[in-house]
Amino acid sequence: MNTKCKNHGAQPPAWRRERLDAFTRVDDLLAFLDLDRTRIPDLDDEPESFGLRVPRTFAERMRPGDPEDPLLRQVLPLIAERQPVAGYVADPVGDAAAERAPGLLVKYAGRALLMVTGACAVHCRYCFRRHFPYQDLGPSQSRLERALDEIARDPSLTEVVLSGGDPLMLGDDRLDALIQGLEHIGHLVRLRLHSRLAVVSPARLTTRLATRLTSGRLTSLLVIHANHPHELDDSVRSALLDWRTTGVTLLNQSVLLRGVNDRVEILAELSERLFACGVLPYYLHGLDPVAGSAHFQVGDAEAKRLLDGMRARLPGYLVPRLVREIPGAPAKQPFE
Ligand SMILES: *Cc1c(COP(=O)(O)O)cnc(C)c1O
Ligand code: SF4
Repeated sequence: MNTKCKNHGAQPPAWRRERLDAFTRVDDLLAFLDLDRTRIPDLDDEPESFGLRVPRTFAERMRPGDPEDPLLRQVLPLIAERQPVAGYVADPVGDAAAERAPGLLVKYAGRALLMVTGACAVHCRYCFRRHFPYQDLGPSQSRLERALDEIARDPSLTEVVLSGGDPLMLGDDRLDALIQGLEHIGHLVRLRLHSRLAVVSPARLTTRLATRLTSGRLTSLLVIHANHPHELDDSVRSALLDWRTTGVTLLNQSVLLRGVNDRVEILAELSERLFACGVLPYYLHGLDPVAGSAHFQVGDAEAKRLLDGMRARLPGYLVPRLVREIPGAPAKQPFE
């Protein structure tokens, strides 16, 4: 069903309704998937913070009755998350040290990353910002103004990455106002959006927003976040292909996750599927050692073996860059 044009009536847009329709209780999700909880002995019903959040649109792409489903694995809280593991910390990538203004990170030459909101459509258990103190960021409007002032003061910046949380959680009007603010900063040339919502709720990829992006002064890129080919169903594909025809450059970043996508066949299929959606693979991130995520870690030797396997099967442009973030490094680092 094409829901993209329902954005102008009195109803909230489809993607907002989908957000309200998310599963937030483990039991509801399991019932929807026809899964008996005894089949998931290590389930954590009530994670202390960072609760379950799974939009129905995402749950519909899971295989009913399969406790090992790779999409379910990404969102299901497990007891293992509570287990402290040496080296797994709250801020594994040195975000705090790179903060120039609340929610504005500058780590790499020419690029500033702006956390537009702390909200996400889905809660990914491996998220490296799962412990980020978003609540300390302060009221959003004055904070964003301050971030824009900081960006304006630094002529070396040419690109702004809107991130979060998920920047597409903002409505079109607020995004439009923010983009206008960025367009006024003469030294900026590119605007990048990092969004998982694009995959989880493709209704968010409205034609109106794509047109806004491509008619603006800055060249726009959308970097989506999909980890497994099953995430890219036909609703996602048609929304992405529409965006591509408007001229937004589309890239994908994935995280390498044990039990989700740590097989060559799956990673190769993901690349093929991305291409069919008009998207090129960009990064395959090694898992950042964030507290609560150790059970997703894939060893370095295994990660390199997987990448070699992809190289042996795929054209070069379908092989993502396998990288990790080292606090203080001038770029994301390839695996040695
Ligand atoms: C990942 C990241 C970027 C973007 O890096 P690219 O290599 O250009 O994709 C920019 N700023 C911060 C703080 C980042 O973490
Ligand atoms: S959508 Fe992105 S920021 Fe939000 S929980 Fe998932 S990985 Fe983290």
